[in-house]
Amino acid sequence: MADFDLPELKEYTEPPRLVEGAMGHLRTYPAAPAHQEALGFPGELVEGWHDKAIEKFDELLGQSRSLRVYLDACVRCGACTDKCHYFLGTGDPKNMPVARQDLMRKVYRRHFTLAGKWFPWLVGAADLTEEVLDDWYNYFHQCSQCRRCSVYCPYGIDTAEISMAAREIMDHIGKGQKYCNEIIAKVHKIGNNLGLQEPALANTLEGLEEDIEEETGVKVRLPLDEKGAEVMLVAPSADFFAEPHVDGLIGYAKVFHQAGVSWTISSYASEAANFAMFIGSYEQMHEVAQRIRKAALDLGIKRIVVGECGHAWRVAYSFWNTLAGPFDFLDPNYPVPQHVCEFTYEQIQKGALKLDKSANDHMTLTFHDSCNVARASRMGDRPGGQFEIPRAILKACCNNFVDMPADTIRDATFCCGGGGGLLTDDLLELRVKGAQPRMQALKQVADEHGVTHMASICAICKSQFTKVMPDYGFDMDSVVSLHQLVSNAIVLDGQAEAAAGPEEETEETAAAGQAGP
Ligand code: SF4
Ligand code: SF4
Repeated sequence: MADFDLPELKEYTEPPRLVEGAMGHLRTYPAAPAHQEALGFPGELVEGWHDKAIEKFDELLGQSRSLRVYLDACVRCGACTDKCHYFLGTGDPKNMPVARQDLMRKVYRRHFTLAGKWFPWLVGAADLTEEVLDDWYNYFHQCSQCRRCSVYCPYGIDTAEISMAAREIMDHIGKGQKYCNEIIAKVHKIGNNLGLQEPALANTLEGLEEDIEEETGVKVRLPLDEKGAEVMLVAPSADFFAEPHVDGLIGYAKVFHQAGVSWTISSYASEAANFAMFIGSYEQMHEVAQRIRKAALDLGIKRIVVGECGHAWRVAYSFWNTLAGPFDFLDPNYPVPQHVCEFTYEQIQKGALKLDKSANDHMTLTFHDSCNVARASRMGDRPGGQFEIPRAILKACCNNFVDMPADTIRDATFCCGGGGGLLTDDLLELRVKGAQPRMQALKQVADEHGVTHMASICAICKSQFTKVMPDYGFDMDSVVSLHQLVSNAIVLDGQAEAAAGPEEETEETAAAGQAGP
């Protein structure tokens, strides 16, 4: 159990009591010189850090027009104040989105506006002192860059972008975060966040093949580095070893098998995640994304399919084309890139999958929309596909599904509390408290509709929930991969104990096809 006060789960969301400085003590571990230098950043706080920070700030304002607009446009209407899960869970006023922005805005005004240069006291301008820099480090590492606040801001001010810019400035003066920077360096060196080497990966995939054969009697392959395959799957590396992620990977493998599509994983680019987005560094994002392009070219594949990873899908959907494109060597008849949910949904619509919903009858499910999928990307060819496609898959695989309250799902979804580079144990207090709004919504459907499990399509969400759910009275295995449900329900050709008959399956498949966007 947590050694700090847990926020209460109430009947509905209400603004917390303000506690000045409630989270001021929480400071994520700083990157060691080796982690910084591996990414080309200074190892420690540089001499003349103030001027260098302002210089970098100036450079970012020149590169990103939106950053300047976000810093200029706020009218202090207050609409965002109670929309951040970290504010709701901690009561710390600096976790209000507008207050978080103000940490950067006051420095912006001091150095980049006339009024701030001449009359700083009139416009709330302030210099970047050591104290302000400490606040930047603490509170820009208490933002999961989930963008919920921007949905409610009448000007669409995106605190996530401000937080990314602040982290980038800090990296450039030698004040980076250990968790993100260490992981990015591992991807550059080995190809995945975990530092999993090729023999270990091959061994894991072989083991999973044996498990599937034992369970179904069918030989389903999980190929590695197979040249000339049709599809290259880029999955989060958590899928290779941890529950419930690995059950999702088994689900993808069964879908590819049943669809009759050849596929492979690349040991060179065995990671969908791109933590460089969290530190706001396009150079680092570019370097990570280039591995995927190189692997696709080396293997001669025709399609890239991205696994269940929220921010990876944002990077792929929104940035891959500029970071690693053009992808003119891929098959233009398919989306570039394609989400594994789009792939599975297409197979369901075509009637290529036999699904026995009763295999999931021991669960009553709800669905957690992951922030980066919900608010920073799409799926399919219609607006809202990112909400409808996962739900259509879920309904095709399960009899019992209930959505959480409308103001906590789809584009209003609450962050799991561990996104944006905060999924580290040194921020556990923040993670537990920040999960409160999601846990409250889950409790509501658990109490009112008997919901037992929550499905997700994000590796960070799954890891975060596994860790924090017990604090709120839920079992750690109450969170499941969406493709784990597919894996349970799918009846493979030749499977030993097929549970559902073909007629019923055809009806379900057709219904699922109609349920889509
Ligand atoms: S982006 Fe998300 S975590 Fe950051 S301030 Fe807005 S609501 Fe809070
Ligand atoms: S909702 Fe937008 S304009 Fe209003 S206070 Fe928040 S950031 Fe400023």
